[in-house]
Amino acid sequence: MPAVSSTATLSGRGTVAHHPDRDPFDIVGLGFGPSNLGLAIAVAEHNADVDRTGDRRIRAAFVESKSEFGWHTGMLLPGTTMQISFLKDLATQRSATSAFTFVNYLSEKSRLSEFINHQTFFPTRLEFHDYLRWAADKVEADVRYSTSVVSIRDCGDFFEVATADGETPLRARHVVVAGGLVPHLPAGITESDRVFHNHRLLERLEALPEQRHRRFAVVGAGQSAAEVVAHLHETFPDAEVHGIFARYGYSPADDSPYANRIFDPAAVDDFYAADEPVRRRLLSYHRSTNYSCVDLPLIEELYRREYAERVADDRRLFMRGASDVEAIAADDAGVDLTVRHGPTRHTDVLTCDAVVYATGFRPMPLGGLLGDLYDDRHPGAPAVTRDYRLVTRRPTSGGIYLQGGTEHTHGMSSSLLSNIAIRSGEILDSILRASAGTAASAAS
Ligand SMILES: Cc1cc2nc3c(=O)[nH]c(=O)nc-3n(C[C@H](O)[C@H](O)[C@H](O)COP(=O)(O)OP(=O)(O)OC[C@H]3O[C@@H](n4cnc5c(N)ncnc54)[C@H](O)[C@@H]3O)c2cc1C
Repeated sequence: MPAVSSTATLSGRGTVAHHPDRDPFDIVGLGFGPSNLGLAIAVAEHNADVDRTGDRRIRAAFVESKSEFGWHTGMLLPGTTMQISFLKDLATQRSATSAFTFVNYLSEKSRLSEFINHQTFFPTRLEFHDYLRWAADKVEADVRYSTSVVSIRDCGDFFEVATADGETPLRARHVVVAGGLVPHLPAGITESDRVFHNHRLLERLEALPEQRHRRFAVVGAGQSAAEVVAHLHETFPDAEVHGIFARYGYSPADDSPYANRIFDPAAVDDFYAADEPVRRRLLSYHRSTNYSCVDLPLIEELYRREYAERVADDRRLFMRGASDVEAIAADDAGVDLTVRHGPTRHTDVLTCDAVVYATGFRPMPLGGLLGDLYDDRHPGAPAVTRDYRLVTRRPTSGGIYLQGGTEHTHGMSSSLLSNIAIRSGEILDSILRASAGTAASAAS
């Protein structure tokens, strides 16, 4: 809901009346997924407290490409569960008494006792999505949906944030970029109605043209790949499903307690303080907490299904480990996928109705958005200060903060939900400190 504020900004010039279009916002956020939703909550809670703290209100606006709040809706597969504890919600770790905790959501939905009886830390993704949407509806925030940020330009005292709808660019003292990750396809793969990345699986399946071959293939060995295999196997009960991956078999995700510490807020300090070789070593040791790994119960479930088909001598689930896609040819009628088994060098051609690439994501590229502000000496791994402020090619009066895309500096939790509550609080604190500094120098 667009909110037009007429109270003080953080500009450091005291309480002034706003001309909402031209006075810079204190914060403009790119994206309104969980990360900037977490920030919007931290901002709203800060503003609600200003009468008590004597602090200043801050004015924020967010730009979101989607037409409404949504969290990876293409992968909201029935039965899939969260891979982090519900306590790593948008607020608890920053403020356990916040009105935006998952526990308060349950309470408002009159499901608290039922959830407790469920005895789980890992709600379904559908329920967590409902929680996130509830929080997005509840928080008082100015969100401009259905348009995208196309550029961020430095104008001295403020940034101009231009949007694709051609509206007057938003002015911002600080920008918080939280655009998430970009789906990654292997080189040479062209998306079509029958060949696509898993991130929009449900929409793609709905729009799938006629299915003549009763066969699907899923490329990849991570959690999403295994979930897609299971979903296709359930949804198309007379179709074959082939999982294709370079590993010999799916590997289990390490969610054991000590390994999980890599996602703790304190681990961000450790990671940030570490030298480059130590950072690389830690990321490599703990890859199996997040990358190319599958929750053990799902591995066991898929194995159980495949084994039952062997017993019944009625196979339609096939795991093709140690295998690669050697060639792919798609037309309106189907997709011919040439799969090569590495050890034996044997190749098969599978004619499929669709091939799903669950081949991961990459950080959002920043160069195009930031133009000459972007320091392209370390593409994909820019310098970032501990408070998540991007080091730009030249100094700017305000900050461009990153929520996500900082795994190389802040560690494994960078692209996950784990640390959103704390990180949002840290970014807000940094902006408050920067603004207090501006106020002090303006007053002197
Ligand atoms: C299927 C799936 C399941 C996952 N499950 C978990 C999990 O259980 N636990 C966990 O910790 N992590 C999980 N993740 C990781 C995931 O990255 C985080 O859950 C979370 O989405 C990060 O939030 P975000 O706001 O940073 O990014 P996103 O959720 O990707 O949100 C970014 C938003 O920015 C918008 N946007 C992008 N570019 C622009 C632009 N130029 N202008 C305007 N808007 C823009 C996008 O439309 C999007 O809404 C999962 C990821 C996937 C794909």
